[in-house]
Amino acid sequence: MNNIPLVDLLLQYNSIKTEIDLAIELVIKESAYIGGKYVSLFEKEFAEYIGVKYCIGCANGTDTMEIILKAMGVMEGDEVIIPTHTWISTAEAVSNVGATPVFVDCLDKTYIINVDEIERKITDKTKVIIPVHLYGTPVDMDKVMSLAKRYSLKVLEDCAQAHGAEFHGQKVGSLGDAASFSFYPGKNLGAYGDAGAVLTNNYVLAEKVRMIANHGQKEKHTHLVVGRNSRLDGMQAAILSVKLKHLDTWNTERRKKAELYKKLLSGSEYILPLDLEGRTPVYHVFAVQCKNREKVIEILNKNGIQSAIHYPNILPATDIYRESEVENKYPVSSYYIKNILSLPIYAELTDEDISRIVTILLNK
Ligand SMILES: *Cc1c(COP(=O)(O)O)cnc(C)c1O
Repeated sequence: MNNIPLVDLLLQYNSIKTEIDLAIELVIKESAYIGGKYVSLFEKEFAEYIGVKYCIGCANGTDTMEIILKAMGVMEGDEVIIPTHTWISTAEAVSNVGATPVFVDCLDKTYIINVDEIERKITDKTKVIIPVHLYGTPVDMDKVMSLAKRYSLKVLEDCAQAHGAEFHGQKVGSLGDAASFSFYPGKNLGAYGDAGAVLTNNYVLAEKVRMIANHGQKEKHTHLVVGRNSRLDGMQAAILSVKLKHLDTWNTERRKKAELYKKLLSGSEYILPLDLEGRTPVYHVFAVQCKNREKVIEILNKNGIQSAIHYPNILPATDIYRESEVENKYPVSSYYIKNILSLPIYAELTDEDISRIVTILLNK
């Protein structure tokens, strides 16, 4: 029996090897390593794909969020609303600009921020809301945007897990004031190293982001603000341009795999992710809730099947934030993170692989 990893990047590479190898060769032959045409081309293609005016390539999907917050003028004394359950980057970006993350609980079986709890967390200090389209499930952006409008807040979409996901037919990343994407290798659109991008329709914000990400320069040797080095490099951009052409196909395949898991596991003890009205998810993660999680992991492991926990802690309970009474304050996400388990999901996963995984889950 073959081993089944959580995600198989070698299988994916093999399926597009000719295109990728050629793209890499061209970057090397042209020494187009930093800046240059491959970066510009990918920025243009990705902006068009998401449906926004500006895309700025950056070094990763953590810098992007910090840079956006800086460009929005967020600083010490400000508050930024984020979900309890997300990757640490979302909170780090807020803390690194000196602001305070204010956590909102997430929803059972969808794992995204509970938009109906955002309003009571808004104070005079609130500047930004960061909805995270976690696992590739779009947050209700209508509700987020109308709250933001009512309270004059900015919205930064964290799209690191949601390349190509849609809310009422519009791509996430085009719905807020700005969006952050990560192209970490395992993401739905992944580079062969670290990479990220900022997307926005706001010209002034786009210019600020571009400056901050490139040493505060507009032109070479004129440093207008204190910036940093957070550029997308040419090799990663060229690879991303190749992979972008396949993204929709891969996302469709992921949705099919998720549907098959749901069909085969329906009526069992496993709690499945809910389908939400008006959303087209992209299943970066396929998470179920299970009893005896340690035992399930062990049995899967014994059969050569990898699984993971995204994530074992909610952020207010981590050592950095260490809030008191998290279980009372955030009962939903505090509870479900003890049971969630991510199963293998990627375009090349076969129906037979899924049947095998499900058989093991049902007969454990
Ligand atoms: C991966 C991820 C990021 C950050 O990505 P990096 O490119 O690894 O810095 C941010 N937010 C979420 C929700 C992520 O999953």
